[in-house]
Amino acid sequence: MISVEEYLDQVTAGVEPLPTVELPLEEAAGCVLAEPLVAKLAVPPFTNSAMDGFAVHAADLKGAGPDSPIKLPIFEDVAAGDSSDNELKPGYATRIMTGAPVPPGADAVVKVEDTNIKPGPVDLPDEVQFFRETPVGKNIRKAGENVQVGDEIAEAGLVVTPQLMSAAASIGYATIPVVRRPRVAVIATGAELVDPGHALEPGKIPDSNSILISALARSFGAEVTYRGRAEDSPDNLAKVYREAAENADLIVTSGGVSAGAFDVVKELGTKAGFNFAKVQMQPGKPQGNGAIDFDGRYVKVVSLPGNPVSVYVSFILFVRPVLSLLAGFGRMDLQGVPAVAGTDWKSSKGRRQYAPMVAKYDEGELTVYPTHEQSSGSHLIATLHRATGLVVVPEDVDEVAKGDRVEYFPL
Ligand code: AMP
Ligand code: MG
Repeated sequence: MISVEEYLDQVTAGVEPLPTVELPLEEAAGCVLAEPLVAKLAVPPFTNSAMDGFAVHAADLKGAGPDSPIKLPIFEDVAAGDSSDNELKPGYATRIMTGAPVPPGADAVVKVEDTNIKPGPVDLPDEVQFFRETPVGKNIRKAGENVQVGDEIAEAGLVVTPQLMSAAASIGYATIPVVRRPRVAVIATGAELVDPGHALEPGKIPDSNSILISALARSFGAEVTYRGRAEDSPDNLAKVYREAAENADLIVTSGGVSAGAFDVVKELGTKAGFNFAKVQMQPGKPQGNGAIDFDGRYVKVVSLPGNPVSVYVSFILFVRPVLSLLAGFGRMDLQGVPAVAGTDWKSSKGRRQYAPMVAKYDEGELTVYPTHEQSSGSHLIATLHRATGLVVVPEDVDEVAKGDRVEYFPL
């Protein structure tokens, strides 16, 4: 048996980021920025008002007070979207809306609530009264005060979040360069599998792994380009591999990697030079990986065991890092937090346990409970969705008691 760390190194060896593509902003969410973004527009692009109110010369309001209001005639009206560049002369006020360009000459904006004018949709008044002085610059957002043309606002390697998409739009981009999303093909193997929702003949079970792997891949930003099933025969699997590889950067298989007489992924893969390992973990001991030659292009294959909880755990431990390397994130190892066991459970000695757990705060402590009394049973797919994360129990521990300190990995 080899350790999880050793196998992770093997699975991720040589995996490089995919090529850069230019994507429309709204399609780039979750990708990694491939080149720095340099502002093509300043933010704000022009000096504008931060309030609905009146643009003035601050000096005109000197001496204004609750009992000595200052009255100014209105010069004009500037709404958001207007482009008036009429100079505001001393002794006048211009009604102005949030986001509208501040007229040349004006050096402050007084918000409508601080005048005698009713806020909201009212006709342009002839004059306005002010009840206090205003400092120069008040309620004015200066052109370029956030960023200026030429400023680098994001470096390569950042994740494209909704906030970054919005920032890119504001500095003039409609498309951005990102690392291409990994294309994943999913193959479930097993003669016992039928499509979900179909009546079960004796000995058959619904294929629940394909949907799990596809949905996990999508949730980590990949595009799923193929989903298929192979029978337990090497010829059929070889044919399915070719179909899967055509539009994929990564093929993920489930089942057929263990010690069974019909473990076809292992049988075919062994001939093709794949690496099969027994990893010191539970669930998920049998693992495999390799590459298939699709007309000169090598497509990576990660072969997970068949039991659904093993699939989930090994996807998180091994497939996710491969995806994150392809997508340009780097390997992204899991981050654990300390927690307390809320009950007793068993673990298998000699293998590191990855047990699906529900975590909640009990008396101020992060406390974890197995999602099922058999804790990390690899077939317990119908309760896996209740888990908020995984608890990792070291290789040399075979029992966890209520109150023990454990390491919890939120997912
Ligand atoms: P295997 O490694 O192929 O022997 O599969 C191990 C266990 O996982 C068996 O009980 C299989 O029936 C089950 N299994 C394999 N593939 C799937 C699948 N796609 N969906 C649900 N269970 C599966
Ligand atoms: Mg099988």
